[in-house]
Amino acid sequence: RKSNLSTFLRDLNDSQIRAVLHPPDIPLQILAGPGTGKTTVLTARIAFLISHHKILPHRICALAFSNKAADDMRIRLTELLGERSARLIKIGTIHSFCAAYLRKYAAYVRLNASWAICDEEESRRRIKALLQPHKELLKSHNIKTNSIDISQAVSSLKERCTSLEEVARCLDNAIRLANLDENTGTESRRRILGSVKAEVHREYDTKLQSANLLDFSDLILYAAKLFASNQSFGLWCQHLVVDEFQDTDNAQYELMRQLVTMNRCITVAGDPDQAIYGWRSANVKNFRKMEKDFPLTQRVHLDKNYRSTGSILATSRAIISQDKTRISTDVIAVKPWGFTPVLLSFAHPKDELQFLVSEIQRLREASNGMLRFRDFAVLVRTKMQRDFVEHMLQKELIPNRVNKGFGFFGRQEVKILLAYLELVENESDEDAFSTAVQHPARGIGSATISKICSVAQRCRRSVLQIAEHNSSAQAAEELETITMHQPARRGLAEFTSIIQNLRKMKREGCSVFRMLSYLKVELHFEEYLQRNYEDDWQRRVRHVEGLMVYAQDLEAKIANEQLTGSPLQYFLHTCKLGNDAKTSEDQDDFDSVIISTCHAAKGLEWPVVMIPFVTQSSYPGIFNKKEERRVLYVACTRAKALLYLTFSSTPSADSEDGDTVYKCSEFLSDVISNESLHTTQVPSITGIDLSALANILERTPP
Ligand code: ATP
Ligand code: MG
Repeated sequence: RKSNLSTFLRDLNDSQIRAVLHPPDIPLQILAGPGTGKTTVLTARIAFLISHHKILPHRICALAFSNKAADDMRIRLTELLGERSARLIKIGTIHSFCAAYLRKYAAYVRLNASWAICDEEESRRRIKALLQPHKELLKSHNIKTNSIDISQAVSSLKERCTSLEEVARCLDNAIRLANLDENTGTESRRRILGSVKAEVHREYDTKLQSANLLDFSDLILYAAKLFASNQSFGLWCQHLVVDEFQDTDNAQYELMRQLVTMNRCITVAGDPDQAIYGWRSANVKNFRKMEKDFPLTQRVHLDKNYRSTGSILATSRAIISQDKTRISTDVIAVKPWGFTPVLLSFAHPKDELQFLVSEIQRLREASNGMLRFRDFAVLVRTKMQRDFVEHMLQKELIPNRVNKGFGFFGRQEVKILLAYLELVENESDEDAFSTAVQHPARGIGSATISKICSVAQRCRRSVLQIAEHNSSAQAAEELETITMHQPARRGLAEFTSIIQNLRKMKREGCSVFRMLSYLKVELHFEEYLQRNYEDDWQRRVRHVEGLMVYAQDLEAKIANEQLTGSPLQYFLHTCKLGNDAKTSEDQDDFDSVIISTCHAAKGLEWPVVMIPFVTQSSYPGIFNKKEERRVLYVACTRAKALLYLTFSSTPSADSEDGDTVYKCSEFLSDVISNESLHTTQVPSITGIDLSALANILERTPP
C-alpha cells in the first residue's frame, strides 16, 4: 500500500505535493482552476494524513459534491490504503452526512425517529399548492410571481440563515413588516409579495413538520442544531475535507465551522470561476470567511491543467475572461494544443442533434474502438433539452444514460414503489399516500384523497390511520361522510391491507428487497406497466429490477455499518439523496453516452464533450449573467480532447417564442474572433490523427 501511495505522490507536481504535505493541523485552502488536480490532491492528502500522520480513518470526514464524486474518491482511497482503512473514512455528500447524523440522534433535535426526506420535486409541488389561495390577492395587485420564484425564495432564505431560529426570526420580521400601515404604489406591492412569500414559507414548514419531513435545507439546519446543542457530537472528526468549496452556502458553512472548532482542522478545495450555485445561495465569500474564522489558514494555488488540450483551454479562457471582476488566475495546459474545438450553426435544432449523432458514430468507428460510447457526454441546460437529446439518441439506437438530477429515482415506476415503502415508514406522508393509492388505479381520485387528508388534519391523525378506519370515533364518522363508490371503498381496503402486510414484514425484520418483491407480485406490477406504457414497458421493468438490485446492494453495505434506525429508513433516505447513485441500470448501459446538465457535470471529465443549443436564450439562461457565463465555462472545461458547440437559428426545443431571432450565445463572441475555435469547417474526422488522440487521452493507439 505504502508503495501505491508513494508512486501516486511521485506523479504530482511541486504545488500539488506542497498541498498534500501541508502540516495536518494548519487549515488549508487549495484555490485553483479546472482540471488542476484539486480533487486528486484532496484524495492524496487524506491518504497521507492516515498513512503518515496516523490520523485514524474514521476520524476523517470528506464532503464531495455528488455521490459519483464520493464513490470515485473512495475507489481511489481503496487503491491507496486498502479496503480496510478506506471503508472507515466518512466520505459522502453533505446531505447524506447530515442525514446519517439525524437518523442517529433524531431525539436530540426533537425529530420523530421515522422522519423522511422531502426532495426538491415534492417541495416544489407543495409550495405550488400553498400558493394557490394567495393567487387572487396577487392578481388584484398586479403582482407577477409563480411557484418557482416562491420555492426559490423559501430555499434561499433557509440557505442564507445559519440556524432554524434565524429562519423563524426572518419570517417573523417579514410578516410584521407586511402588517405595518398601508402604503401606496410599488412599496405596498413589494410588501404584499413579501408577506405572501413569508406566509407560504411558514405554512410550508408547518406542513413539513406535521408530515414528519425534512427538505434538503432542513437537513443542514437540523444537523447544525444538533452540533450546536452539544459539541461532543462533532468530536470524532479530526480533519474535515471539503471539495467544491466555492459552492457552499452559509448554512453549510456554519455547519462545517461548528464541526471544526475546538482545535480540529480543515482542508478545502475550490475554484471561484466554477461557482454556479449562487442561485442556491452558495457564497464564494466563504473562502474569506474561513480565513477570518481560522486565522492560521494558508493557501496553495495550482495552475497546471492536466485534463484538457491547449485549444480547449484557450476557448474556455476566452469565455471566462470577459468577466472583468473575476479574481482567479488562468491555468496552463500540460497537454498539447490538440484538435481545435468547433462551433457550428444549423438551420434547426434537429439538424444540430443529427450532426452530433453522426459525429458520435463516425468518431467511434474512425477511432477503431479507442473511443467508446461512454467517452462522450452531451451537456444541456433544461429538462426539455434533455428529453430532446435522449429521444434523438434513442431513435438512432445510441445507448445513453442520464446523469443525476432527473435520474433513476425520479422515474415514475420507481417512484410508485418507493411511495408504498415511504408510507410504511412514515404514515403521515400524504404525498406518498396519494401516489401509492392511485397507482395502480383503484377508483380513488384526487378529490377523495384530499378529503381524507383534511380529515386526518382535523382529527390530528395520520392519513394512514384515517384510511384504515383505525382511529377515533370522530374520524370514523367524518370518513363516512366522504362519498365513495363501492369499488373505491374496496380499493381502499385492499390498499390498506397491502400496507399492513408491509408493516408486518418490517416488524419481522424482512429485508427491503423482500418487501419490494412482495409489492411487485401483489400489485401485478409488470402487467400494470405493460398495460400503461406500451412503448417502453420493458425499459421500465428493467428499472424496477434495478431498484431491487440497488436494495440488495445497500443491504450488503448496511451489514458493514453500525446502523441506527430502520434499514427501510436508511434505504429511503439513500434513494432520496442518491439521484446520481450507482444503480444496476448503470451496469446495463455501461457503455453509453452520458446526458447531463451542466450543473451536474461539475467535477467530471470526458474525452469528448458536446454542448448543443448554445443560443442566446439558453446561455445566459435564467440566472445572473456572471453565473451563466461560469456555467458555460464549467461545461467546456469538462472536455479532454474534443469539444463541440452547436446552435441553430430557429427556436430550440424548449422555446415558446417563435419570433425571436436565435443567435449564438454572447459568451462566445470573443471566442469567435479568436483562432481557438473553428466556426466553419468540421475537422475532417476520417483524417483524425489517431496517434495524437491516443497521446492526448493517454491510451494505446489501435
Ligand atoms: P475540477 O475543477 O473540474 O473539479 P480538479 O481540479 O478537481 O478539476 P482533478 O479532477 O483532480 O482536477 O484532475 C483532473 C485530471 O487531471 C484528472 O484526470 C487527474 O487524474 C489528472 N491529474 C491531476 N494531477 C495530475 C498530475 N500531477 N499528473 C497527471 N495527471 C494529473
Ligand atoms: Mg474536482
